[in-house]
Amino acid sequence: TSLSRQFSSSSRIMAPISKETDFLVIGGGSGGLGAARMASGKFGAKAMIVESNRLGGTCVNVGCVPKKVTFNAAAIAETIHDSKAYGFNVKETAPFDWPTFKEKRDAYVKRLNGIYERNLANDKIEYIHGRAKLLSKNDVEITLDDGTKTTVRANRILIAVGGRPASFPNIPGADYGISSDGFFDIATLPKKVVLVGAGYIAVEFAGMFNALGVETHLFIRYKTFLRHFDPMIQEGVTAEYERLGVHLHKESTQTRVDKDAATGKLTIHYKDSNGEGQVSDVDHLIWAVGRVPETEHLGLENAGVKTNQAGHIVADDFQNTSVDNIFALGDVCGKAELTPVAIAAGRRLAERIYGPASIFANAHLDYSNIPSVVFSHPEVGAIGLTEPEAVEKYGRENLKVYTTSFTAMYYAMMDPSEKAPTKYKVICAGPEEKVVGLHIMGLGSGEMLQGFGVAIKMGATKKDLDSCVAIHPTSAEELVTLK
Ligand code: FAD
Ligand code: NDP
Repeated sequence: TSLSRQFSSSSRIMAPISKETDFLVIGGGSGGLGAARMASGKFGAKAMIVESNRLGGTCVNVGCVPKKVTFNAAAIAETIHDSKAYGFNVKETAPFDWPTFKEKRDAYVKRLNGIYERNLANDKIEYIHGRAKLLSKNDVEITLDDGTKTTVRANRILIAVGGRPASFPNIPGADYGISSDGFFDIATLPKKVVLVGAGYIAVEFAGMFNALGVETHLFIRYKTFLRHFDPMIQEGVTAEYERLGVHLHKESTQTRVDKDAATGKLTIHYKDSNGEGQVSDVDHLIWAVGRVPETEHLGLENAGVKTNQAGHIVADDFQNTSVDNIFALGDVCGKAELTPVAIAAGRRLAERIYGPASIFANAHLDYSNIPSVVFSHPEVGAIGLTEPEAVEKYGRENLKVYTTSFTAMYYAMMDPSEKAPTKYKVICAGPEEKVVGLHIMGLGSGEMLQGFGVAIKMGATKKDLDSCVAIHPTSAEELVTLK
């Protein structure tokens, strides 16, 4: 069984399941937990949460958390490599014990699962492990682990079922590959991997493998990846991956995957901008071609909950669906698929429906200016509009775009070929030069963005950035001294 699909049954004594509740939350991931805990823990609502897999959802089990821990391992590998430039006498390749690392990473995730379960108990939320399906706008059928079914009647229902990896492309042998869920089951350090995709996941995984010394092939459909990001980021990070030795197959499609019965190794046949080719002796093929909402067999039609063409649940600014007592948020709505977005939307919703109306009647998440970071090599941070988006919204003549490209002081001790670029862009609109977009790539960008995010959310202008005294020597200081 894949680790991501296992559930460690706890030793708690199961109380009989309530037949009725006020707030029934389907999905114990980022959004569902955020909403249920606020509703019950803070406002005393009678709440129930139904989770079919592991508490914490995608982020904790097969997303942000184990990803970031792996990113940290990759960053340590880079630091060990860089340390030579600072006079450390280390071996060319530091031994990395992936099985031990994985065991510790899995144990950490398991600890978090336990903490989440205790949090639910502390907040007096009834937790049911099972799969939920809507029977009507108030009735939910739950299939328990032993296959028995029970029905719960709820006053209000929140759908926070998240998403899952999109199906693999329809080519012979595609199923020899794995999804991002499978990445977290990889038991030993591979020698050679192939990744297909051009979004956050493909780029983050490719960067980590490459930094850990794995021969890494990344297949993209166009000339750059991260195509939803500002052109400076797309072009900058794509070029940097090539410099770092990632085998980038641009304008590529895969035609067939073969598996060697004796060795289990894969051969990926492809076409790219250089013609036809194949990559052999591949340990893992990882499809990272997007995610889809987890709405199959959820019974949305029984309750009349509307979805859009992509299958995402349609929700308004207040997370209301087409049915008055049913709400939806997080990845299942397909808008800014990020953990803090799901948590914040969940908390705002619980405040609005269970908090005092005098304070929270209008509570909802503002989806504008959401900062996000790609844990690539180097890290990328972005908030607000890309330059093409800003041009479309404000017109080129109403924009002032400030850019800088430099080498961070960290690289001063290194050979020219070892130096990674840092690139920043600040997009300002109107005579007051309000900051409408900020894009950064380079060391430390992940930690750097949050503070600038606060300023931009408050409506910062270029003058505001300039009025803050620089912190020297840092890379961030370049953002308050742009000319
Ligand atoms: P989920 O967290 O997916 O939770 C939904 C839960 O519902 C799941 O536990 C599922 O088992 C359960 N469920 C589904 N159907 C049913 C049902 N019928 N009955 C009962 N339970 C059900 N975001 C970031 O902000 N930063 C990152 O660094 C980051 N890295 C990521 C890396 C990867 C590899 C992936 C895949 C995602 C990453 N994300 C990251 C995105 C983030 O994980 C999601 O945006 C977030 O988890 C969405 O929360 P959610 O509550 O909408 O759904
Ligand atoms: P994304 O939607 O971000 O990216 C998938 C990309 O893969 C597409 O945009 C497309 O890019 C490319 N693609 C699609 N089909 C194919 C194909 N057949 N062959 C090659 N490439 C293809 O999805 P991800 O799965 O990477 O991530 C899902 C979401 O999870 C993200 O959007 C993000 O919201 C969240 N996430 C956040 C992270 C973070 O905050 N650090 C980390 C990981 C995930 P193109 O059109 O250019 O080909």
